[in-house]
Formats: sequence, structure tokens, C-alpha cells
Amino acid sequence: MTTEVSEAAAARGAAREIVSYDPSTGEELGRVPLGTARDVERAVGRARAAQGAWAARSFKERARVVLRARAIVLEEMDEVAGLVGRESGKPAAEAMAMEVVPTLDLMQFFARRAARLLRPEKLDIGLYRFLGRASEIEYRPLGVVGIISPWNFPWATPVGEIVMALMAGNTVVLKPSELTPLVALKIADVFERAGAPEGVLEVVTGDGSTGAALVEAAPDKIMFTGSTVTGRRVAEAAARRLIPVVLELGGKDPMVVFEDADLEAASSAALWGAFANSGQACASVERCYVHETVAEDFTRRVLAKVRALRQAARDADIGAMSSERQLLIVEGHVREAVGRGARVLAGGGRPKGAPERGFFHEPTVLAGVDHTMAVMREETFGPVLPLMTFKDEAEAVRLANDSEFGLTASVWTRDLRRGRRVASLMEAGTVMVNEVLYTHGIAQTPWGGVKQSGLGRTHGRLGLLELVAPHHVHVNRLARVPDPWWFAYTPGAAALFRSLARRFASGSLLQTILISPQMLGRLRELKKRRDD
Ligand code: NDP
Repeated sequence: MTTEVSEAAAARGAAREIVSYDPSTGEELGRVPLGTARDVERAVGRARAAQGAWAARSFKERARVVLRARAIVLEEMDEVAGLVGRESGKPAAEAMAMEVVPTLDLMQFFARRAARLLRPEKLDIGLYRFLGRASEIEYRPLGVVGIISPWNFPWATPVGEIVMALMAGNTVVLKPSELTPLVALKIADVFERAGAPEGVLEVVTGDGSTGAALVEAAPDKIMFTGSTVTGRRVAEAAARRLIPVVLELGGKDPMVVFEDADLEAASSAALWGAFANSGQACASVERCYVHETVAEDFTRRVLAKVRALRQAARDADIGAMSSERQLLIVEGHVREAVGRGARVLAGGGRPKGAPERGFFHEPTVLAGVDHTMAVMREETFGPVLPLMTFKDEAEAVRLANDSEFGLTASVWTRDLRRGRRVASLMEAGTVMVNEVLYTHGIAQTPWGGVKQSGLGRTHGRLGLLELVAPHHVHVNRLARVPDPWWFAYTPGAAALFRSLARRFASGSLLQTILISPQMLGRLRELKKRRDD
């Protein structure tokens, strides 16, 4: 395991470096190298050199390293949560709940289950098995997996992907966000102390250029989490080299509250779903649609709960935004919405009395919004909850699906049949009934979106399968018997092929038995030609 020190920086004697700040105080937390393309190439080279020996280890041996890493995290969980909190601006309690707890669970799950989830699989090949054939799929490691991760969950996002990639027998090169490099170095430190051999997990700190260099260094797969704009750029660069990518690009996730919902629970969920992590989650509730008959009651409950939230740099419910850039985007969305007629029911901007250098935005509730506004169309990625009403189920589904994104969606009703019915109409990778936001925390469930929310999946068996190459082995146990479809294409062969089209390709054994005399005739013909 190595953390790259920039060669260029060393050559000049003056560090090309990144400064990490606490976004809630402006305090400098540390400095790390800004990795160059050469640094990335070397890291990929080391990961490639280490991969064969790592893949040759059994699942149990790989699991031992992951479980030792898990034990270190457990021992140092307060330090981890504190560091995540300081570098990203979120409350340490939230870092514990949303980052440390899910990764501890994911580590034990994949350490214990990866072998079973990737067990070789016998395939049902239908009528071909009567020709003495058998097919099996082995799941082989891809090689080197490049992970490009964002700043909003700087621990949980990369750790989950690292653990799954390593358990599948790959080695990893991680390029974390320039806003949260110290968390990434802590991840490297944990795996190093857990006994991961040199090259199994490489971390190259840097900025967007370092991420771009990782794609150019041609790892065997890229796991990217971030914005749609950058994701598209990564996909284009990867396509030039035919590198497969998984893109987790965030969303504009709707929450639909029907008139029969438990409004007390739904209002608390809306609050947490929209404001946890200062709204900087790809699955945050970004749009809330409430049935017109309960909208007043729901809004009253939401506003009472917003007033009770505490916002501060430490030990609060809501922390700071991760960067000034993000804060400016959120302010821009709120300003535009208000300029076009939206009403601010709570919050609305930077809190009065916030530390001057902290990037805080108040938890904000908007009414009077519509789908022409950026706050209802673009990813706001901030603590903003816009409320709209609807008249009936059809309108709710139409509004929820009226988005270029499709990561998660949430439906609230006491009628679970209705919940499932509406869920099946939603255009999203995950739809939750009477829940919001949290299923990224479940190791067993797939995570990923449709439409502009991305490609592929992370987590669950589907996510694990993204990190392996299916290796199909097909065996012919009757190799002495010639295949009827081989040369020569005699008139008898042509007649048999027509029968195969009609009967064998129907999938019916009975139909196929009817052509066995013709088949035997063809085999005799082939044998005779061979013997002649
Ligand atoms: P980006 O998409 O720019 O960053 C994500 C990761 O990609 C970071 O590690 C970044 O590095 C890296 N990166 C940047 N440029 C390239 C490149 N050309 N090639 C390869 N990697 C690159 O996210 P931002 O930080 O700019 O956030 C902007 C918006 O993205 C947010 O407002 C939000 O809407 C969305 N977002 C969504 C996330 C999600 O979970 N789905 C997470 C983060 C953001 P570096 O940070 O060092 O520049």
C-alpha cells in the first residue's frame, strides 16, 4: 500500500499540494500531494503487479484482511467519525450513523459472503444438455479497479467499493475528492495496518486532473461517483479505451406523500431525507409532493420540526456545506426560485451569526415552486425542501417522473398495496415505500440509478458482479460425435436445419424428439463423410 508523493513536486522541491480545510471553521487540517499523471501510472503499475498474488489468495485469506481492517475501524470509530466530520463539515454523530456503521456492516457482509455470492454457477442450457453439453460461469477478478470518489460521503462511498473490489480479487487505485483527501489517507492507513500487501490498495490524492489521469492509465474498470457532467466526461474518456464504467451520478429524488400517510412519520422523514448531510446526498429528498388535502397539516409539522433543528460547527443536527462552491449553487437555486414566485417558509440562506468562514446554509423549506425552476429540475445538493401539492395518484406519478434523473424515489401511504403499485410506476433505481434515503447503507441491496442518474450498480450481488468478469466454460461430453451443423451443407443438412428451426428452437423436448430420425440420418451422413 502506497500513497503517492508527487514526482513533479519533488523535482521542483516546492510541493504541488492540496490544502484540506474544515468547511465549518475554515481551519487548515493538513496538506497532501497533488498527484500527477506519472504518479497515477506508477500507482496503477504497482496495483497491477500486486493483483495476481492477491487474486491467488482464497476468499478466506482476503476476508481476513478485510475483517482486520474492520476491527481497526471499530477500535478507532470515534477518530474516523471525527475526521470525516471535520473534513466534510457534517456532524460527527451523522458521520458515525451514515458512514461508519454502514461500512462496518458492509465489511462483515462481503468478507463472509463474497465466496458464496461469486460461487461458480451451472447454467440451464435447455435442450443443448441432451446433446451432452454443460455450461458453467466462473466469476474472475477484473484486475485493477479505479475508484473516483466524491466529498459528500468520503468514507462510506470508497470503503464500500474498495471492500467489494478486494473481496472479488481485484486491486484498487483510489482517487478521492480534493476536498476530503485526509479521510482517504485514513482508509489507506487502516488497510495497510490490516496487512493488505503493497499495491493492493493505492491512494493517489489530487484534483480533477488526477482523476482524469486515472482513467487514462487504463485500469480494468472505473467506479465513479459524482456529478453527471464529470461522469459523462469520465465515460467518454473510458470509452476511448473501452474501459467499462459504473457511474453513480446523483439525482433529484422525489418523495410522494399520499393523503392516507402517517404524517408524523412522513414529516420527520422529509426533514431527515432533505437535510441530513446538509442535503448533500445523491439520494436526498430534493422534491416533495403532498396530497392537497393534507398539505397544510404536513407543512405545519415540517415547519415545527425545522425550528427544533440545531445548526453549528460541532455537536449539532446540521453542519456546514462541504465547500463554498456548493453553498453558492444552493443559494443560486433558492434565489432563482424566490425570484420566480416561490415562498420561503423556513430558512432561506446563510444563518445569522454563523462563523464567518463556515459554509453554512439554513435548512430551508420552499412552497409555491413549479417544474420550471432549477430547484425542481437540477440537483440542488443542499438543505432545501421544496413542497408542491398534487390532486391524485396519476398526477403524483407524473410529477415524480418528470425529471432527467432517476436514482431513488419515496412513496408514503398506509396502504402497502398502493405503495407497491405506485413504486412500480416510478422511474428510479430504488423506490422506498415509507422510507427515504438510507438504502445505500444496506450492503445487500443494489445501488444505482436510471436516466441521468448513472449506469450500473454498486452494493449487493449486482454491485459485486460489476467487479468481476463472467468466465463461461462450455463442455462437450460427446466430442466423438460430430455436430450436425458442421460442414458439409448437403440437401439433408438443409432439411434438418429447417426442422431444427421449427422444432428444436421451440424449446420443446417433445418436438425435438420428433426430429430424432432426421438427426440420426444426418449424423450417419457426417460419419460416412469422415470415414471416406
Ligand atoms: P465532481 O463530479 O466534479 O467530482 C467527483 C469526483 O470526480 C472527484 O473525485 C473529482 O475530483 C473527480 N473528477 C473531477 N474531474 C474529473 C475528471 N475530468 N476525470 C476524472 N475525475 C474527475 O463533483 P463536484 O465535486 O464538482 O460536485 C458537483 C456536483 O456534483 C454537486 O453539486 C452535486 O450535484 C454532484 N455530486 C454528486 C455526488 C453523488 O453522490 N452522486 C457526489 C458529489 C457531487 P476533485 O473533487 O478532486 O475535483
